[in-house]
Parts: sequence; structure tokens; C-alpha cells
Amino acid sequence: MQDAEHTQDSLHHDVVIVGIGMVGAALAALLGRAGLNVAMVDPRPEALELADVGVGQPAPRVSALTPVSQRLLEGLGAWPLIRDRRVTPYTAMQVWDGEGSGDIGFRADQAGVPVLGHIVENDVVLAALEHCLARMPNVTRHYGQRVASLSGDPGAPQVVLDNGEKLAASLVVAADGARSPLRQMAGIEISERDTGHHALVTTVRTALPHGATARQAFLATGPLAFLPLTIEGDSHYCSIVWSTSPQEAERLEALEREALAGELAGAFDHRLGEVEVLDRAWCFPLSQRHAQRYYQPGLALIGDAAHSIHPLAGQGVNLGLLDAAVLAEELLQARKRGCELGEEWQLARYQRRRRGDNASMLALMDGFRMLFGARHPALTLARNLGLSGVDRLGPLKRLIMQQATGQRGRLPHSCR
Ligand SMILES: Cc1cc2nc3c(=O)[nH]c(=O)nc-3n(C[C@H](O)[C@H](O)[C@H](O)COP(=O)(O)OP(=O)(O)OC[C@H]3O[C@@H](n4cnc5c(N)ncnc54)[C@H](O)[C@@H]3O)c2cc1C
Repeated sequence: MQDAEHTQDSLHHDVVIVGIGMVGAALAALLGRAGLNVAMVDPRPEALELADVGVGQPAPRVSALTPVSQRLLEGLGAWPLIRDRRVTPYTAMQVWDGEGSGDIGFRADQAGVPVLGHIVENDVVLAALEHCLARMPNVTRHYGQRVASLSGDPGAPQVVLDNGEKLAASLVVAADGARSPLRQMAGIEISERDTGHHALVTTVRTALPHGATARQAFLATGPLAFLPLTIEGDSHYCSIVWSTSPQEAERLEALEREALAGELAGAFDHRLGEVEVLDRAWCFPLSQRHAQRYYQPGLALIGDAAHSIHPLAGQGVNLGLLDAAVLAEELLQARKRGCELGEEWQLARYQRRRRGDNASMLALMDGFRMLFGARHPALTLARNLGLSGVDRLGPLKRLIMQQATGQRGRLPHSCR
């Protein structure tokens, strides 16, 4: 383990990570457990406490974590903490065309895996990772601070915090979310596409149990997902992600809970019977963004800072965790070979391993959205035939399941 090296007015670290979200925290844990000296910055006032999350009513933001992400979190020692707070495994997925007759189902046993994934509250994942970080003396976290500027030489970048403190490092990593202030400071361009959707998020109780199944209806206005949640053994809860036009989302957000419940049950074809809305509705605008580069000398982007993706396939944080795992692998291999951290070839290798995979997932989401948003009768027919056809075609279905469970390409060691 290396100690922080004090210079006159700045601390030198191996890596400074800006943003303590799920992805930044995972990268810090991967580097920290290997003995690197890491500093982190986040404007949140303080870390989440495990005792305060995963209790009572579920938090509105949840993620569907793939078995690959689970393996990464297991290796970090975070998964047992997450499992002990609250997770809901799902063993089946059902997707149907709300405007037609196409229907497709996936089961874990068809893929030869015990589960297809877990629905987990984001706060639970983050609190577990922060609990692990708190036990790493070589990882320093600065809460209640933003990065005011990024400067220094490419080989010795430095961030200055709002309070004037300077943190120097061999590499700065932007893990500061979809609007990434650091990416903007660095002048890295993004391609951005307005999905034409806002996501309405809330928690419901349903008359029928969810049966460990994640369900999604593709409506003309966008996909509506009921993600299973089991609370204290009761499997009548679901987290809702309803992606729809901004106007429709605004209308739904303004409804009384009872009226929203009626709309949800109807739009979902009453597949889980009557619905009771338990929380207010939260609304998130959905844009797809992709950074044109994942690095420049001294700086790397990971997670939503590099790419933000429509939530219809629940891939965002899973892709971000893979970014963290691959970047950590490249940096640790370089360190093992005695190289300086953050040299351009390491960052180029990281970009090569991640950008293509993320780009194809973004393109796939665009394709889905356009196909299912289309009202043209030929497209409606095609997607109904397509969904039902895929359901009958074993190999294609297996391929889709591999994508959904994160089994794509060469995985980093920490995810195998
Ligand atoms: C409705 C919805 C549903 C979703 N469902 C799923 C799903 O089922 N599965 C899935 O995989 N993904 C899902 N996603 C995507 C997922 O939530 C994101 O991909 C994930 O949260 C990104 O994590 P992150 O750590 O990269 O960024 P964030 O979670 O955005 O974290 C960024 C951190 O950076 C900090 N920060 C911001 N500015 C600064 C600054 N100036 N200085 C320092 N720190 C800063 C923030 O405080 C924050 O802590 C969903 C997204 C939405 C909107």
C-alpha cells in the first residue's frame, strides 16, 4: 500500500476519481484493494450509511444488475452487504407489444443460469461500495466538494476543488454522471440524441405477485417496465419505469395516485391485476449521449460521463461497471509491469475495449425505440412476427439472453 505523498500545496495520488456514484465507487474499490492511492470527490454532503438504505419503502431509483455486475461486486466484497440489505432476483423476463400481439419470454433455466439478474435499489449498491471504501485507508473521499477546475500537465493532471484544495494525480477519472462537468472542462465532444422520452419512476403494489419476472410492455408512446421487488418476503411490489413523451410524462406526473394507478394497470394490460401507487412519481428526461473519446492525456471517462443510454434494457450502470473493471485492469497491469500510470497507451487500450461495446448497445437501444415507436402497419406486423419468431428460435433467443445478462465479448478478470 502506498501512502499519500504530500507536496507543498497539493496531494499527489495515483488516481483522482471525480464522482462517487456507483461506477466511480466501484473503480475506487478495484484500485484501492490493489493498494493504489486514490482520492475521490463528490458534492454529496456525506457517504450513505448501510443502516439507512434498503429499509421501509423502496427508494425510487433501482437498477437491474446483470450476473456479470454481481460477480464484480462479489469480488469487491460488496455483494454480501447488498444481499443482506435488499435485492430481488428475477428468473424470467417477459416483453410484449402493447399495440399488437407479439410476445416473448426468457427464462433463466433456458440460459443455464440460476437468475437473469437482480433488481437493486441504487442507494443499496452505493452504500455497500462506500462501506468497502471506508475500510481502505489508501482511498480518501472528499464530500461536499465539486471540482472547480482541471489543470496541470498531461502527465501530471490536477483538480482544484471549490474550497481551493488541490489534488494532483497520475490520472484523473471523470465518473461524474451524464452531464459530467469534468468532461465539459476537458472539452471532450459528445454526440447526443434526444430520445423524445422522459422516464416516470415510482413504486407500486400489485394485486398479483410478480413471480420473480421482469416485465415490459412496448406501447406506442414508449416502454413501460414493471420490475419485481420483494419486500420482507412479500412479492407484490414493483418498481415502475414508464418511458413516454415529455407531455405525457408531465400529465402522468400531475395525476393523483389513484388515477395514475388506473392508468398503469390499463397500460400494462392488467397483467398483475389492480395497482396501488405507493410513492410520488419522479420524472427524468432521457437523452442518449456518447463521448467521442473516452480519454485525453491525463483524463479518462467512465460510466454515464462517457455514455448515457435509454433505460429500456436496463444496461446503463452495467456498462459503467464494465468500464470501471476494464480501466482498473489496464492500470493495474501497467503498474505490474513497472510503467507510469495513465500513459496514453493504457487509456487507448481502455477505450478500444469499451467504446465499441457501448456504441453497439446504444445503437441497439435506438433501433428498439424506433421499431417499437413506429405506427406504420408494416413495422407493427414485423415486430409482432419478430417477437413471436424470436421466441421460437432457440439460438437467437440465447444470443439475446447473453446480451441481457452481460455475457458479451472478453470480460475483464474481475467480472468472470
Ligand atoms: C429511470 C432510469 C432507470 C434506469 N434503470 C437502469 C437499470 O435498470 N439498469 C442499469 O444498468 N442502469 C439503469 N439506469 C442507468 C443508471 O442509473 C446509470 O447508468 C448510473 O446511475 C450511472 O452511474 P454513474 O456512477 O456513472 O453516474 P451517477 O450515478 O450519475 O453518479 C455521478 C456522481 O458524480 C457526482 N458529481 C456530479 N457532478 C460532480 C462534480 N462537479 N464534482 C464531483 N462529483 C460530481 C454526483 O453527485 C454523483 O454522485 C437507469 C437510469 C434511469 C434514468
